[in-house]
Amino acid sequence: MNTLVVLQIHTLNSDLLNPMYQARTQKAAVEFFWTADQAVSNLLKGQLDYGSSILPEGDLSCWESNILWSLKQYQNIEKPLVLWDILAALLALKQTAPGFVEQLLLNWLSSWCLDLPSGFTLENILFHVQSSLPKINNHQIHLLNIICRRLIFSELKIEVPKSGEPYNEDKLNLWNELLIHSEKEMRVRLVCFSLGAALFLASRVSEASASNRKWLPVGVAQMERWVTINKELIEDRLLLLVLRVGELGERIKNVCDNQVKESCGLCSASVPFESPETAVCKATKSANHSVKSHKLQRCAVSMKLCSITNVPWFCTCCQRWAARLMPNAFFTKYNPSVDFGYVIESFTLFDHSKPLCPFCGIQLQRHAPNFLLAVNPV
Ligand SMILES: [Zn+2]
Ligand SMILES: [Zn+2]
Repeated sequence: MNTLVVLQIHTLNSDLLNPMYQARTQKAAVEFFWTADQAVSNLLKGQLDYGSSILPEGDLSCWESNILWSLKQYQNIEKPLVLWDILAALLALKQTAPGFVEQLLLNWLSSWCLDLPSGFTLENILFHVQSSLPKINNHQIHLLNIICRRLIFSELKIEVPKSGEPYNEDKLNLWNELLIHSEKEMRVRLVCFSLGAALFLASRVSEASASNRKWLPVGVAQMERWVTINKELIEDRLLLLVLRVGELGERIKNVCDNQVKESCGLCSASVPFESPETAVCKATKSANHSVKSHKLQRCAVSMKLCSITNVPWFCTCCQRWAARLMPNAFFTKYNPSVDFGYVIESFTLFDHSKPLCPFCGIQLQRHAPNFLLAVNPV
């Protein structure tokens, strides 16, 4: 085992690794980094036993400062989100010292809110973060979403959080509400970027058609529908944006795909828009009067139905599918001090799309059978 770990320190680049050994290599490297780096002397004496004993206070404070330092590195919005090592450490600590992990997370979240007095309770801090979400950058919201799904709700395997879904513990309800709001905030930003891009392209139709159109907003009609359904919950800024896009009328068709009606890829029945996550087709009754409606997935980026012939991208964290990708600017150029969160005044904003999940910020994957081990950033 030791030889394997030392060898992999030099070849941890995922591109160089044989996928068959990926999971084992990551596990071994986590043990090496998080134990050997921090408590060599204890390890040599055989005193560090995460499964059965309480960790000494000195070790815990060392873990806390190292984990908080690692999380802080992600303030750099260009740094790719690869958190498997931090999550492995936190999950192991959660088994032995859950109170310590909770306090660590509260200290981390409190560091975002400079105006928060010390000594606040979990409820106060989570509510404060929830009400400050529009001011928080994408990378931090992505970190929060990953930590909620992979650490707080790691045993529950939730696919999509539901408002008001009761958990046994009050604390889980608080985290669930925060996750719902932070993912909604990312969806609002996604819609703002796409609708803002449609307005910009409509104002520069001749240039837009002359440029090589690396990226175009898709699903504008579905996004407008989502805003209409959620009118009560959506901020005025987004309602205003939808109004302005509506004023474009037929001109929107010159700059992007704006198909309103959708049909089922399996039976051709119509598919109404009811949710941005999934859809059910309106299949008609067959000869024996049984109705076989099909449940379909919507693209996490465009809210349109995923094609049944093209394999979409998949997020291993939030379990969403994506047939389209967002340009890099969506992830890096969010600015809370401007009206719609993005200043879209240049075609260069649409360059370079990367396969990243808009909700978690991690690398998306092509869905593959379980026996093919793949690189997993979380
Ligand atoms: Zn169908
Ligand atoms: Zn995701």
